[in-house]
Amino acid sequence: ADAPLLPVVGGDLSVPLVDGRTARYVNLDYAASSPALAVVASHVNTVLPLYASVHRGAGYASQVSTSAYEHARDVIAEFVGARPDDQVIFTRNTTDALNLLAGVVPGDTVVLDIEHHANLLPWTRTAGRVIVAGATVAETLGRIETELAARPAALLTVTGASNVTGETLPLRRLATIAHRYGTRLAVDGAQLVPHRRIDLAFDGVDYLAFSGHKTYAPFGAGVLVGRGDWLDAAEPYLFGGGAVGRVSLTEAVWRTGAARHEAGSPNVLGVTALARSVQELALLDEKAWGAHESALRHQLVDGLTALPGVRVLQIFPDSVEPVGVVSFAVDGVDSRLLASYLSAEWGIGVRDGWFCAHPLLERLGVSEPALRASVGVGSSAADVSALLVALARFLHEGASWEYELVDGQWTV
Ligand code: PMP
Repeated sequence: ADAPLLPVVGGDLSVPLVDGRTARYVNLDYAASSPALAVVASHVNTVLPLYASVHRGAGYASQVSTSAYEHARDVIAEFVGARPDDQVIFTRNTTDALNLLAGVVPGDTVVLDIEHHANLLPWTRTAGRVIVAGATVAETLGRIETELAARPAALLTVTGASNVTGETLPLRRLATIAHRYGTRLAVDGAQLVPHRRIDLAFDGVDYLAFSGHKTYAPFGAGVLVGRGDWLDAAEPYLFGGGAVGRVSLTEAVWRTGAARHEAGSPNVLGVTALARSVQELALLDEKAWGAHESALRHQLVDGLTALPGVRVLQIFPDSVEPVGVVSFAVDGVDSRLLASYLSAEWGIGVRDGWFCAHPLLERLGVSEPALRASVGVGSSAADVSALLVALARFLHEGASWEYELVDGQWTV
C-alpha cells in the first residue's frame, strides 16, 4: 500500500496550517465522503455540456442525457451482480434508498442494534424488531436465526460493513439463514461498496443501498438495487411527473419499474458520475484491492493499539476481512480538540463525533465522542504514518491551543 491504487481528485491538495505554512492534505475521512476518482472528474466535464433533463422529449441533449442515465443503471446492475429482474432505482443517497425500501416491505422487519441511524430509524419508525447483536459474528447469526424461526419477518436488514469499526458480516450466510424462513435480506452497503466487490446474485442479497459520495463520485446520487415485485406493488416513493403513466384530476396510473419511485428531474450528473466510478472499480484486481485495504487497516489498527491510552473500537473479534474504517477513543482527550489539532497542525482530516450510531457507541462503552480514520483506493501507507506520528506527538506534548477555522484559516 505504498501508493494509491487509483488517482483521486485532491490527492495533492494543500491546506493551510495554523502557523501560516501549508501541508499536503492527508485525507483519512473516506468513510464520511470519499474523494472523487480523477476519471470521474473528467467524465463529469464531458457530461456537463449535454446536460438536460432526462425523459423529457425528443431534443438532442435530452436524448443523450436519457441514454447516459439509463446506461448508468445497466453499469451499476452489472457491478453489483444484480439478477435480471432486479431494479436499479436512483435516489439521493443511502438514507433515501433505505427509506424508500422501508415503504415497500409487506410485513415485519428485523434489524440489528449496531446499525448507522440510516439503517435503524426507517425501521424502528415502521415498528421493526431490533435484535441486540452478540459478542461475536457467530453468536449474532445464532440470535438472528432464533428470532426469524420464532416470529416470521418479511425482511432482515444489516450493514455490510460498520461505519464505526469497518467490521463486516458474512452476507452469504445471512442470506441462507434469512431465506430458510422466507425472509429477504437487505444490505446497507454505504461502507461496503467503496471497499469491496459485492455480488447480489451469488451472495443471495435481495436489496442493496449505497451512496455515490462514499463511492468516489460526487454528492447527490445514491442507489437502491433489488427485487422488483415489492417495489412495483407499493405506492410511489414520491408523487409527481415521471412516476405516472396517465393522470386525470381524479386518478393516476402509476408506472412500474424504476420510474415509479423516481418522480421529478433526476440527478443525471451524479448518477453518471457514480456509474463511471464503479466502472473503474470493476477494473481493479480484486486481490490487489483487498491487499491494499487490508495493509492500510493493519497499519492503522497496529499503530493505534501501540499508542498509550488509545482504544480501538471493536464489535466482533471474529469479523472476517474488515474494511479500512477504524474508530478509536483516547483516554481523557476531547476528540473535537484532537481532530482540530490534527488538521490545524498537520493537515490531517479525520472524523470526530458519534458517527450517527448512538446505540452502537453506547454499547461499546464510549461515553464521549470518538475519532475515526478511514481509507480507500486513493490512500497510501504515508497517509496512515502521518496520522500515527501526529497522534504520538499529541499524546506526548498535548495541544497548546483551541483551534478554530475562520474564513478558511486556522486561528487559536
Ligand atoms: N449507512 C452507513 C453504514 C453509513 O456509513 C452512512 C453514512 N455515514 C449511511 C448509511 C448514510 O449515508 P448517506 O448519508 O449517504 O445517506
